[in-house]
Amino acid sequence: MTPIHPLILKFGGSSVADAACMRQVATLVRAALPKAPLVVLSAMGKTTNGLLAAAHAAEQGDLPTALEQLKALIQHHRRAAEELFEGGVPDGLDQGLTDAFGQIELLLRGVALLRELSPRSQDAIASFGERLSTGIFAAFLEHQGLATAWVDARTVMRTDATFGEGQPQIGLLRELAIAHLAPHLGIDRVLVTQGYIGATEEGLTTTLGRGGSDYSAALFGAALQATEVQIWTDVEGVLTADPRVVPGALPIPELSFAEAGELAAFGAKVLHPATIQPAVEANIPVTVRHTGKPLGRFTTITGEVRSGRPVTALASRGPITVLTVSSTRMLAQSGFLARLFEVFGRLGVSVDLVATAEVSVSLTVEADAPLKVLLKELSAFATVKTAEDRAIIAVVGERLKYTAGLGSRLFGALADINIEMISMGANEINLSLVVNRADEAAVLRRLHAALIEGGGP
Ligand code: ASP
Ligand code: MG
Repeated sequence: MTPIHPLILKFGGSSVADAACMRQVATLVRAALPKAPLVVLSAMGKTTNGLLAAAHAAEQGDLPTALEQLKALIQHHRRAAEELFEGGVPDGLDQGLTDAFGQIELLLRGVALLRELSPRSQDAIASFGERLSTGIFAAFLEHQGLATAWVDARTVMRTDATFGEGQPQIGLLRELAIAHLAPHLGIDRVLVTQGYIGATEEGLTTTLGRGGSDYSAALFGAALQATEVQIWTDVEGVLTADPRVVPGALPIPELSFAEAGELAAFGAKVLHPATIQPAVEANIPVTVRHTGKPLGRFTTITGEVRSGRPVTALASRGPITVLTVSSTRMLAQSGFLARLFEVFGRLGVSVDLVATAEVSVSLTVEADAPLKVLLKELSAFATVKTAEDRAIIAVVGERLKYTAGLGSRLFGALADINIEMISMGANEINLSLVVNRADEAAVLRRLHAALIEGGGP
């Protein structure tokens, strides 16, 4: 028998926030029936925050506040269930909800009694968010007449015992997924499971860390050789720039894994690339899609992108500080850079960009770096100039390095702006510029107009 390659559909908290959202998700799942859907859900809306807040209140010994928090969560989940099942919540679900809420209350009471919240207890409490959302959603699909299975992800997502940040035992996942997920996969049937949660070999509940559902989806996708991992969220994919700064920002049709990494490092609001690495490594396309606009645009992230524009996207970060370190004796002296970076290493200051000239080195550090100490140490062997309140603009694209004439367009667009530093990343997909922070927005808009909206040279 050939194994079934499922389509993974992962829905984040905002996509399953309430009954109306869940109805929309059900519509999308229905449309995916021919592709053997495996649905991975986050907790509803901000449920995880609510559970953790309750746990922290309990830890402080403030049981009334903890129970108040829990009550709000109960009401939210019950209301969603009542709205989904107009003829009344099915008995099985109703009992399941009652049991889950009872268990959360017991855990909170235990934490409050001991005034102690270990990472292990915290995971046990946090795991209920996904268990509740998937329970309600699976019951709703069943109620709609779909052949639905619900699997507890803790039977598959085996992690080590690092509570709060469980490390998946990648080598075991395939076997466990074949044993526990594969039997429920098929055309015209839906399998629903949880993101974010896992369990140790002894069966203790763990979580993969906040926002871990994307990682779960990618791991399940890799384990089952999915045809695609769809990350459904509230944006139409990854955008070419921050739309609050660049109104013309557009979804990027195709993004490489390396590009996604560069953008994430610059704080662009993309899913963290490490979380989708398992899927990318297994050659499974990952798409980022808008739950509210399923027919709209979306971004496909793959290991390599060969087509597309020379510039894929822009990102920026600021404020940052530029240090220019010069030494008259540096010329032809070996060991200067080693000595320089030894200071940063010892003080634990991370350096982002570096550009070297014959007698000076410019580098950028975060605005909150300990400047005083740095300057004191560096001035022992060099002259240092600092420029604060600067911003790094990153021009990211796999095809940057192959594109002739890009430089002239880039500098042409910024003819009257002072560019203080330029650095081409070693992977040649990131050209970074340092400008005054007052120019940051203008630079982003102009480069977007010249390099992205304008098309390739
Ligand atoms: N519900 C979890 C969180 O809020 C996991 C996730 O949403 O990905 O962090
Ligand atoms: Mg989330």
